[in-house]
Amino acid sequence: MDLKQHIRSIPDFPKPGILFYDISTLLAHPQAWQATVDRLAEAVMEHKPDILAGIESRGFLVAAPLALKLGLGFAMVRKKGKLPGKTIPYTYDLEYGSDTIEVQADAFHEGQRVVLLDDLLATGGTMKAAAELLRQSGADVRAAACIIELTFLKGREGLDIPVTTLIQYD
Ligand code: 5GP
Repeated sequence: MDLKQHIRSIPDFPKPGILFYDISTLLAHPQAWQATVDRLAEAVMEHKPDILAGIESRGFLVAAPLALKLGLGFAMVRKKGKLPGKTIPYTYDLEYGSDTIEVQADAFHEGQRVVLLDDLLATGGTMKAAAELLRQSGADVRAAACIIELTFLKGREGLDIPVTTLIQYD
């Protein structure tokens, strides 16, 4: 199954000059989506995670079915202010300004093995911040996996964990 043919690219979204890779067409095709989840599951299993973490919001779509398939729990990495109860925040720099992500303070046990999931790796800034946040919350971040990687942005070079991606654009 060639997964790339199920990704749609949309020019000038969310801003002029940006080519957006849209996974809606992949999600809408059950066989292609099943193959995506199966291939990610194989890669993720190698790291023997205790729990999976998904990054808001498309990372939830990736992590939740994977967690069910692998019989693991699933935790959410969310934008600031969305999670109830005690949370741990992490603020990181963007090209213009900054952003804050959070996890619930009791989402991870000390030393728990976690694999991080998102739909796409671009500059790696989001993944790096999520990995740092999880470490601060006590987790042992073993690896990351995404459906798509924009290899020309070299995002993986800034990460100190192994990253698996299924589709690359260069
Ligand atoms: P990064 O922090 O690696 O530069 O950007 C990755 C984040 O931005 C991911 O959470 C991803 O969902 C989102 N993102 C950036 N560009 C795209 C794109 O072209 N398609 C999709 N689906 N997500 C994108």
